[in-house]
Amino acid sequence: MSVPLLRWGLVLLVCLLAPVGFAQDVKKAQKAKAKAPRLVRIHGGHRLHRDAAASFERMTAAARESGQSLLVTSAWRSYQQQRYLWRLYRKGKGAKAARPGRSNHNRGLAVDLVVGGELESPTYEWLAGNACRFGFRRTVASEPWHWEYRPRSTPAPGDGEDCLGRPVNVEPEPAPAVVRTDAS
Ligand SMILES: [Zn+2]
Repeated sequence: MSVPLLRWGLVLLVCLLAPVGFAQDVKKAQKAKAKAPRLVRIHGGHRLHRDAAASFERMTAAARESGQSLLVTSAWRSYQQQRYLWRLYRKGKGAKAARPGRSNHNRGLAVDLVVGGELESPTYEWLAGNACRFGFRRTVASEPWHWEYRPRSTPAPGDGEDCLGRPVNVEPEPAPAVVRTDAS
């Protein structure tokens, strides 16, 4: 085969294969888009998956009614942000962090809250007793600040109980008025 012919053959081959590669790229991009969480902004400029965000805002409103404010320090994280935190952790310079792609922060389903650092703080106490009503629960034993939205595997509290099974203080119902009827 002569050199020019070979060259044209190569050009032809590239032209034939390029669209295939392009189509694969488009498919990959579509797949990545379908997998990417649909994020919604919550207060404080953080973002969560839209279902988690809606439930989180309801939980925040309920907490506020009980005099507790839920302050977010971290919610959704990009792959790059997670990689950065994970590297810091591996170097012994940062808090515990999951491998990038493995954290529910990457899916917009985890939120880190200011709980005062102690399990006895009023905010933590409120979360422990109420978060399950909104589908949130703790998943990392050593991280009282880390709460995940897992509505399917988070059981709702029993009737008249909070998330820890403690009786909920319900206002006593007023005694029914005695109605006197005159039989005669
Ligand atoms: Zn976290």
